[in-house]
Amino acid sequence: MSVLDKFDLTGRRVLVTGGNRGLGRAFALALAEAGADVAIAARDAERNAAVVAEIEAGGRRGLAVQADITVRADVTAMVEEVTAAFGGIDVLVNNAGIAIHRPALEVADEEWQQVLDLNLTALWNCSTAVARGMIDNGGGVIVNVGSMSAQIVNRPQWQASYNASKAGVHHLTRSLAAEWAAHNIRVNAIAPGYVKTEMAPVDQPEFRQHWILDAPLQRYATPEEIAPSVVYLASDASAFMTGSVLLIDGGYSVY
Ligand code: NDP
Repeated sequence: MSVLDKFDLTGRRVLVTGGNRGLGRAFALALAEAGADVAIAARDAERNAAVVAEIEAGGRRGLAVQADITVRADVTAMVEEVTAAFGGIDVLVNNAGIAIHRPALEVADEEWQQVLDLNLTALWNCSTAVARGMIDNGGGVIVNVGSMSAQIVNRPQWQASYNASKAGVHHLTRSLAAEWAAHNIRVNAIAPGYVKTEMAPVDQPEFRQHWILDAPLQRYATPEEIAPSVVYLASDASAFMTGSVLLIDGGYSVY
């Protein structure tokens, strides 16, 4: 077997949450290019359909699931729908997330809750719901989308709820990796730095010094630059890796 064959995902059945734009879209398309059938789940049906059309144009099976994954019933229905359509789920990419910039003392209870509900609780609910089927199928892979914000405090804007939620994602990654290794489920995370998406206003001049110039590479990433790391973690190329957090931040956190 050649080394590149280890990255091959032919026949793998993948679910990407928040796969209809930004990083999630790039992950879905990269995983499909590597051979996988890919379901995406998010709230905007029109955007979901557009990404599924891109997956299918590449010759793979795609599936759009309209779901608000902060709603437990939607998570249950999502997992049932993907399992029924694909016959199982081999890879779960927990990507959907939200960031709210606001000084801590101005954060309303609902905003704190909104961030924790999506970034941490929904990721937990999706993981436990999918893991049951993975165990029945003999194993699987979970890739969580954490952030460098789990280990640094971003500036000049404040976003304590986001940072705390992503720190939770990193340690949940390690916790589930330990617990589910016996079931042949690997659990890893990526921790991106600044990436140009709707979430991150990387072009705004007030952020240039701290977001861009303070990092060794002095630029932001595109989603397509992060996606190959998800292919790596989803595939047999990372077979001996579990409980790890892969930092992809242009060197931001060396200082
Ligand atoms: P975007 O805001 O561009 O995309 C967020 C995605 O999540 C959309 O597909 C959205 O679709 C989906 N989503 C939001 N709320 C829900 C919900 N309740 N249920 C289901 N899906 C939902 O963000 P990014 O692509 O930038 O971020 C993706 C991930 O990467 C996040 O976890 C983020 O924290 C992380 N990240 C991003 C960085 C960056 O610089 N951009 C850096 C580090 C980490 P819809 O609205 O249709 O539901």
